[in-house]
Amino acid sequence: MIIDCHGHYTTAPKELQTYRDSQIAGLKDPSYVPAPAKLAISDDAIRESLENAQLKLQRARGTDVTIFSPRASAMAHHIGNETTSRHWTQACNDLIHRVCTLYPQNFVGVCQLPQSPGVPPVNSAGELERCVRELKFVGCNLNPDPSGGLWNSPPLTDRHWYPLYEKMVELDVPAMVHVSASCNPNFHTTGAHYINADTTAFMQFLTSDLFKDFPTLRFIIPHGGGAVPFHWGRYRGLAQDMKRPPLEELLLGNVFFDTCVYHLPGIELLLKVVPVDNVLFGSEMVGAVRGIDPRTGQYYDDTKRYLDALPLSAADRAKLFEGNALKVYPRLKAHLAAAGRA
Ligand SMILES: [Zn+2]
Repeated sequence: MIIDCHGHYTTAPKELQTYRDSQIAGLKDPSYVPAPAKLAISDDAIRESLENAQLKLQRARGTDVTIFSPRASAMAHHIGNETTSRHWTQACNDLIHRVCTLYPQNFVGVCQLPQSPGVPPVNSAGELERCVRELKFVGCNLNPDPSGGLWNSPPLTDRHWYPLYEKMVELDVPAMVHVSASCNPNFHTTGAHYINADTTAFMQFLTSDLFKDFPTLRFIIPHGGGAVPFHWGRYRGLAQDMKRPPLEELLLGNVFFDTCVYHLPGIELLLKVVPVDNVLFGSEMVGAVRGIDPRTGQYYDDTKRYLDALPLSAADRAKLFEGNALKVYPRLKAHLAAAGRA
């Protein structure tokens, strides 16, 4: 089985964005009363939004199931207040649940969290619990910078985040560290802000004893781990200079990377420096990079092709495509069994 750990509902029916637009317009309208979404979206509209996009690509590329979450750049936790974010998040998560209910064999849900700048992360625990216990989601996306590029929250290793981590541990779900849209013009959302955040999260983990406090807490750093694999020697050396334990001991029991690096040499490097046990197949399709590479004639985000081009052992392939995902997302197994996949 081939599990893609990183997909977003980037093709959701337009009613979702219409609701979001009304929310945002309402922020400037004193007569607007914030209210949860009541989206009139038919099952057929959901099917149509996926059949010519994610589902078509799953079939064409030979992948089986996608761990699926709301569009990350649209989380935009910096917009409005805590209520704005909660209503928006619930609408997005409920739509993911409908996708997973219509296509239980193809999609498994991961939730957005209703974060907001300056609001304690523990306030997201209720939505996480709802999504895991009621909607049967298997993880969450955690935004380390709800300000959208101003980086004014405490680091992920600060006790500020601990009550949310306690809930993640209790539910036995991981978080993908995933920022959203950048409202800082210095940082292009998917080209700079995303990669900065991936790199930043790793360095934060390196400097702290977070995983001593939470030995079973798990994070996926997406986009191939940002700059980390390319600078692996820098991080090993920094850890050494700081009298930290070796990276393997310090964080590789808890931190994992996906394969959303859109060229073969990048994937080769990733797998050369990061242990195979810490890499999960992911494509982030249909996502940030949607074009075809004229040098190969293939989609940049068809990351399975890069793995298929490597001389991997059968055991390593099984880990990358299936085993590591089942290890990092323990709730996935029951979900796949219920869908007749296991
Ligand atoms: Zn993503």
